[in-house]
Amino acid sequence: MLLSVKDLFVNYGNVEALHGINLNVREGEIVAMLGANGAGKSTTLMTISGLINPVKGSIFYNNMDITTMQGHDVVAQGIAQVPEGRRVFSTLTVQENLDLGAFTMTDKDRINRRLEWNFELFPRLKERKDQLAGTLSGGEQQMLAIARGLMAHPKLLLLDEPSLGLAPILVKSIFEKIKEINAEGLTVLLVEQNARAALKLAHRGYVMEVGRIVLEDSADKLLKNPDVRKAYLGG
Ligand code: ATP
Repeated sequence: MLLSVKDLFVNYGNVEALHGINLNVREGEIVAMLGANGAGKSTTLMTISGLINPVKGSIFYNNMDITTMQGHDVVAQGIAQVPEGRRVFSTLTVQENLDLGAFTMTDKDRINRRLEWNFELFPRLKERKDQLAGTLSGGEQQMLAIARGLMAHPKLLLLDEPSLGLAPILVKSIFEKIKEINAEGLTVLLVEQNARAALKLAHRGYVMEVGRIVLEDSADKLLKNPDVRKAYLGG
């Protein structure tokens, strides 16, 4: 198991947002987390990446207890989060944004090789490497946000709503990129409102409702599950 989350409880002030989450991700998998707005999907990702401390439960990565580890140390261990909303540094160029993604690395050759790898994966970013990130299209900004996460050589990529606000054609292209990244050996935990596309891409999935996991199955079975179809796939 690459990632193992056990009985995770998270509070925002007095409000309990996660009520005992259990989830596992094996090496090489794409795992999708589905659920309505406010179910706790982003909270789960932020807790794994060390941005929020849980009040109870544990998070193991590569058999290491990372439950109380802070964000930058989690990145250094090989977990990168691409937050919701294509957060890029809009007044910096594409290249500068990517350089910032390599903040945990010191070996210049390794950084350059990674940059080239990213440019092969996202040729559009190479063409626009000197352009200010704020002037990229929505889809290009999402590609940049993902590429920046990849600069740190993660083994596990946490992706929060990569398709949010993108036109269908761009959604397709982003999902194809995620498939390519996974084929290169990266494990992916993906939070998505676009449940159908996510389940077509993923090997397994979890369904969250108000701070709990209510269902866990292979992506194929979730796609056929009548309750999932009714609630998340439009019948
Ligand atoms: P969405 O799909 O809308 O992004 P989500 O499943 O990712 O939703 P979360 O963002 O994890 O859900 O939110 C879970 C719950 O925690 C919600 O009830 C939300 O209002 C609450 N919450 C999230 N962030 C905070 C915060 N900073 N302070 C207080 N409550 C919060």
